[in-house]
Amino acid sequence: MTNIYPPKRILMGPGPSDVHPRVLQAMAMPTIGHLDPVFQRMMDQSKDYLRALFKTENSLTFPISAPGSAGMEACFVNLLEAGDTAIVVRHGVFGDRMRENVIRCGANVIVVDAVWGTAPDMALVEDALKANPHASVLAFVHAETSTGVEADAGALCGLAQKYNCLSIVDMVTSLGGIPVDVDGWGADAVYSGSQKCLSCPPGLSPVSFSEKALNRIRSRKTPVQSWFLDLSLVMNYWDGEGGRSYHHTAPVNAMYGLNEALAMHMEEGTDNVHARHRLMHTALVAGLEAMGLSMLVDASCRLPQLNVVTVPEGVDEGAVRAHLLAHYGLEIGAGLGPLAGKVWRIGLMGEAARASNITVCLSALGEALNLQQHSADTGAALSAAQAVLAG
Ligand SMILES: *Cc1c(COP(=O)(O)O)cnc(C)c1O
Repeated sequence: MTNIYPPKRILMGPGPSDVHPRVLQAMAMPTIGHLDPVFQRMMDQSKDYLRALFKTENSLTFPISAPGSAGMEACFVNLLEAGDTAIVVRHGVFGDRMRENVIRCGANVIVVDAVWGTAPDMALVEDALKANPHASVLAFVHAETSTGVEADAGALCGLAQKYNCLSIVDMVTSLGGIPVDVDGWGADAVYSGSQKCLSCPPGLSPVSFSEKALNRIRSRKTPVQSWFLDLSLVMNYWDGEGGRSYHHTAPVNAMYGLNEALAMHMEEGTDNVHARHRLMHTALVAGLEAMGLSMLVDASCRLPQLNVVTVPEGVDEGAVRAHLLAHYGLEIGAGLGPLAGKVWRIGLMGEAARASNITVCLSALGEALNLQQHSADTGAALSAAQAVLAG
């Protein structure tokens, strides 16, 4: 039998992102019991780190033992009951998944659409809130990984409060890449993922719930339909007063990795991490534009960590991605839904947001385009990017 081993890649897609060796080393430490006092101390430390990253004092802040999609589902199944109404802002793939979650809770969904690649329109959201006074939840994606657009999370959470709704905010791609402010915005239920800007392997979903959200859960008339994601049960493990009790076996080594990634974030400093993402994004965009490529999203709402580039007329986008992977071990993402075949998604998430990656990406992309008889000036692209990086 020959076993299969992963090759070395540069991960500049929509996630997972590059993982620092320190995080991988932490995950190779000895497995201990998930109720071991040392592990419990680490759980407390991770919770403190997450509170600092989310900018919240919320007591119920912890990583769910499953990927970002489970964090999303936890928010919906706990805050909604059959017959409730939720308003979902949909500006990409993940907003549509929110809509599906509402329906599966047996609740009514009102969708407010934005054209993919543009930011949600606050006036349309406010109209929907006015027209549906019984709605109890407003849900939206802060950083839409499918389109590269940032929604105005502060304004949307403000609207939710004004119309007496709890807010559910997807921070999977925003946390660790751009500023988030859970308490400042008054966000009620938020979830993220380990493998995007936190630069950890996939499989964990940090979440945080406000006191208002917990009161909603306490006053439910029906039990949460998901046993695993029922927060009233999970809480006894993550937030147990006077001792934690068994709920499920936490993925101990995965938690080592998350704790190390969070520690590295704290060492670098949140503001510095955000500034690094912003600088790498500016350099990448300068290079792409110097090469004659154009960005899908207007500069006013572009995400630095997820860059959506329009595929030029006549270029086979799949062949370009295949060339980058085969010759440079470089992964970039394809378009999703209505953007499939029309764009590339270049991630600059966490550890991937480094100057060396910008250089490799621009030169490999230039080469792949030239191979398809599409002229792209790689030299001009590298000079433009370097001018930004040199400050
Ligand atoms: C990746 C992603 C998710 C889903 O996370 P998984 O870890 O893949 O389950 C949800 N929302 C957004 C915005 C994402 O980018």
